[in-house]
Amino acid sequence: MKRILGFMVITLLLCNCNSGDNKKKTVDKTEKPTATPIANLISAADISATVVLLTKKHEATEKERIEKGVARVAALWQKSDGTVEEFKTFCTEKFIPQGEKLDIAFDKLSANFEIMYGMFNKMQLDLRVPLELDKGEVTDIDMLFGAYNASAHITQDFFANKIAFLVALNFRFFDLEEKMKKGENWSRKEWAFARMGDMFTSRISAEVLQEYSKISTDADAYISEYNIYMGKLLTENGEKLFPEKMKLITHWGLRDEIKSNYAVDNGLVKQEMVYSVMQNIINQSIPESVINSDKLEWNPNSNKVYENGKEIAATPEPNTRYQHMLNVFRAIRKIDAYNPQVPTYLDRKFDEELEIPMEQIEQLFTELVSSPQIRKVGKIISKRLCRKLRPFDIWYDGFKARSSINEDDLNKQTREKYPTAMALENDLANILRKLQFTDEKAEYIASKIRVDASRGAGHAAGASMRGDKARLRTRVGKNGMNYKGYNIAVHEFGHNVEQTISLYDVDYYTMNGVPNTGFTEALAFLFQKRDLELLGMKDETPNKKELKILDQLWAAYEIMGVSLVDMKVWQWMYDNQDATPAQLKGAIDKISKEVWNKYFADVFESKDEPILAIYSHMVIYPLYLPAYPIGQLIEFQIGQYVEGKNFATETERMFKQGRIVPQQWMREAVGNELSIKPMLDAADEAMKQLDE
Ligand SMILES: [Zn+2]
Repeated sequence: MKRILGFMVITLLLCNCNSGDNKKKTVDKTEKPTATPIANLISAADISATVVLLTKKHEATEKERIEKGVARVAALWQKSDGTVEEFKTFCTEKFIPQGEKLDIAFDKLSANFEIMYGMFNKMQLDLRVPLELDKGEVTDIDMLFGAYNASAHITQDFFANKIAFLVALNFRFFDLEEKMKKGENWSRKEWAFARMGDMFTSRISAEVLQEYSKISTDADAYISEYNIYMGKLLTENGEKLFPEKMKLITHWGLRDEIKSNYAVDNGLVKQEMVYSVMQNIINQSIPESVINSDKLEWNPNSNKVYENGKEIAATPEPNTRYQHMLNVFRAIRKIDAYNPQVPTYLDRKFDEELEIPMEQIEQLFTELVSSPQIRKVGKIISKRLCRKLRPFDIWYDGFKARSSINEDDLNKQTREKYPTAMALENDLANILRKLQFTDEKAEYIASKIRVDASRGAGHAAGASMRGDKARLRTRVGKNGMNYKGYNIAVHEFGHNVEQTISLYDVDYYTMNGVPNTGFTEALAFLFQKRDLELLGMKDETPNKKELKILDQLWAAYEIMGVSLVDMKVWQWMYDNQDATPAQLKGAIDKISKEVWNKYFADVFESKDEPILAIYSHMVIYPLYLPAYPIGQLIEFQIGQYVEGKNFATETERMFKQGRIVPQQWMREAVGNELSIKPMLDAADEAMKQLDE
């Protein structure tokens, strides 16, 4: 249903997994009520009158459901839905008491939602076939149909025909706190009813959505055209360090360049220069004229600009980066007003999307970044580099062990084994058997997955109704699938297995799926890790496992630091809603340095570094960052739990749970809530092994 809810707020959720998110203190719902343009129509007196009418008609046990349901319908009711009298009539006629009638209503709604969302999903996937699969030239017609989303108005339609109101009136919405407290004792059916209650919590006007979409597209365009021409950068001596044509996008390209300069000649000097560029971007001292320009030369250290060898005057970028962030924030504030149940973006991100309270996430991150294990790994890195750490070593890349297996041999093997997409499809059940699935289960899951040769790197698209198949879209070259394609295909296959179990084997449709994207990523990575084993090979690279663990811990340290900054910046924006771009810049400077000084300065032996503020996500994917480390933790915890156990049995057992809240899912899956302990313990063990 998360996927389904995704339909409804399509512009707000970032579906790209990209393997490639104290509020209560600062954003108090009672202190700062959001403007509720949709809540004014039905007065408090009308609501009470309706509740009285209904309570007279029904048993006393229905009182709470009546009160909650009527208030919720009132909050969503708009002029076009009818008069106050019509509102009262609707509520009194459509309220269904608990028991057989409500059960029947639930079953019918579930069945019909499955038909509708399932078909729309299938339609979308099929219409995008010419765009996404390797099937010859893309024509205008393909583009027109591929961009068409037939379900774009589905939520509006459900309000217009009153189906949404019927759901809102009869299926209670529980906020995250209630779900976490009560959910533990709920039956599966109670959970399924609560998930039905999660539908239709907001009714955002098309205008407001459109405005958000435009503003976010503008921000996107700003970042996608934010390139630095590396061949134009000058050192103090007027030297150039990078290839003439090298063009890097902020921040991904710049960051990857830092990563690729470990253990190369002159690497450190180049890394220092890239960091200097980043600092200029963060504090907006970068001359506006050098952004995306292959004409001018620039010394990022002195900040001087040259044209044909002569210094020219230049003005700094006028805080455009922060203007875009504020634009996005303000567009989101308008959406807030249409979400009576979850009125701030922080709430929607943490309570609704990730379903883990922000305080818990903050605590996990803080504990990991403060841990003694991080300090030890920092010392190991410094020793390996034979120098003091520099701030950009948050992207240290030297733990990746060179594989003992020759990639050409691997390519040969995967090409022979999988000359076509169909060859892989025919082998899926076999792969599952190697992962300990029984014959019967392997055939069952494999029969629900289709493999297609994709244009891009590959992705997994799940079905939204039983009877439809999940798609494994992966790259198959003319000569068959190379190792890289195979490696990605195994990852995507992990997603497909999750998608299949969590749709077909979950007992209620409203609970299909996983609590958040971290869970599906976890299974995908567990599959991917076994890719060589599935080919019947063994990687004998010395210390590969141990080094990988240290690499993962260091990566978690970095991304958690960045996420903490992201979260604090959002709190600041809610607390300072009229801020100017310059004020936001000042706040981000302060916040990023505070986080650095608290959790990084001791490891790096330097204070006041702004590096954690460089991520472009902060401009274009609001509050997306925390989802990455959460996914890493889940992967680690599940990975460690299944070690030595029957992988298939455990996978089925865990993912059959469907969409309960993450902490309960984890408790029932591995016996503990989301925790940093497995990762830290593994790092201790790895460091011990490496020492020996
Ligand atoms: Zn993935």
